[in-house]
Amino acid sequence: LDQITTVSPSIAANIIQELQDQRGNLKMIASENYSSLTTQLTMGNLLTDKYAEGYPHHRFYAGCDNVDAIEAEAAQLAQELFGADYAYVQPHSGADANLVAFLAILSAKAQKPVLAELGQEDPSKLSREDWNKVREVVHNQRLLSLDYYSGGHLTHGYRHNISSHLFDVSTYSVDRQTGLINLDQLRQQLHEVRPLILLAGYSAYPRKLNFARMRELADEVGAVLMVDMAHFAGLVAGKVFSGEFDPVPYAHIVTSTTHKTLRGPRGGLILCKEEFAEWVNKGCPAMLGGPLPHVMAAKAIAFREASRPEFQTYAAKIVENSQALAAACVAEGLDVLTGGSDNHLLLIDVAKTFGLTGRQAESVLRECKITLNRNSLPFDVNGPWYTSGLRIGTPAITTLGMGTAEMREIANIIKRVLSNVTAAKTASGKKSLNKYILDNEILAEAQKRVEALLANYPLYPELDLNLVQ
Ligand code: PLP
Repeated sequence: LDQITTVSPSIAANIIQELQDQRGNLKMIASENYSSLTTQLTMGNLLTDKYAEGYPHHRFYAGCDNVDAIEAEAAQLAQELFGADYAYVQPHSGADANLVAFLAILSAKAQKPVLAELGQEDPSKLSREDWNKVREVVHNQRLLSLDYYSGGHLTHGYRHNISSHLFDVSTYSVDRQTGLINLDQLRQQLHEVRPLILLAGYSAYPRKLNFARMRELADEVGAVLMVDMAHFAGLVAGKVFSGEFDPVPYAHIVTSTTHKTLRGPRGGLILCKEEFAEWVNKGCPAMLGGPLPHVMAAKAIAFREASRPEFQTYAAKIVENSQALAAACVAEGLDVLTGGSDNHLLLIDVAKTFGLTGRQAESVLRECKITLNRNSLPFDVNGPWYTSGLRIGTPAITTLGMGTAEMREIANIIKRVLSNVTAAKTASGKKSLNKYILDNEILAEAQKRVEALLANYPLYPELDLNLVQ
């Protein structure tokens, strides 16, 4: 840090302040975690300087022996951890992993047959006219994915994302009454749409999915089953999601991030069946440039950490805490969607119970030192910016060591704060969607209670505090 300070005091200060922020607030954003210091150290070193386009032992640069070894080890560990046929560890993020997977499926299932018809395997050798014939077929493929308001991710065909340019997108939603994904309704939709890809996986859905059944449904219409397990990869690695709830045996392609429940470095991962390996491996040049050797090394560290028995205990505890938090919230009178949680997150409707937007609830809780995010709810009338809900996750506080007693305390604090907040009035006398009023005494009480919780579970206690003041 001293060296960083010499070059840029402001960046050094931001790093220190971020540590203080993460130490001083309850991190309940469902997509975040605390990676180990070993993982962080593996990411921050000279490996960042090496170019290695291609894949192990097939590079477009010289001097890649060490990167070859790192990438091969990370891929091997991922394959073993998840029991996959093939693993690809180059994607820089979950969004990249999804794009690489889309392109791999399009190449294998849509482009290849047209190339065969044209009698040319290599697209770079086609005339412009013939290549346009290929593009026309490739760009007309259908994707069926979970809609954004039901918990799907932007990269699953949201209109403002490139995925909606790549595909003719149809979406499925949760059932209005139950809030659950209804596989009978999905089956009907699959038969109507007959997509190339059935995409499962979510950013904001509090239940588990039956991937064995989803594969059967995909097979009925000859669709490729792609599962984006970015959020719950740690629960798969930790064997909480096993049998029919483990996507790896059933999906043709599984994409993931490595930094959420999996607790590794920020990055992406693809697992696939042998049939797609050749195409997935062409992530570069399909859409990636050079891989990030330092991050692939850190992924290897995280995969090793996740294959230890302690990680299984951790994964089970994430879900135990999420269920305890959901039960405590229900007991406090909060509106927990679907009535509970099977995974690491729960959704709460703050509009119905408290007349607040998600944005107001997020802001007031942040003032009370609870960091979580507002989230659209299914069929949300408040749109994606203000929203009607909160998404609350337990991966990070479980890493700190918190348990069910703390979940009850947190539910009580949330209830006490939200039931004492009112929406402020705008200049024209309407209810503000942003601003709110909270009594100072309630605020101080909530802050004190959160501080008391955090005092028992210090973050990175091994970091020398003298360094970071
Ligand atoms: N897929 C899902 C289901 C996600 O929730 C996210 C991120 O929140 C992503 C993909 C994208 O990951 P990244 O932010 O690493 O691009």
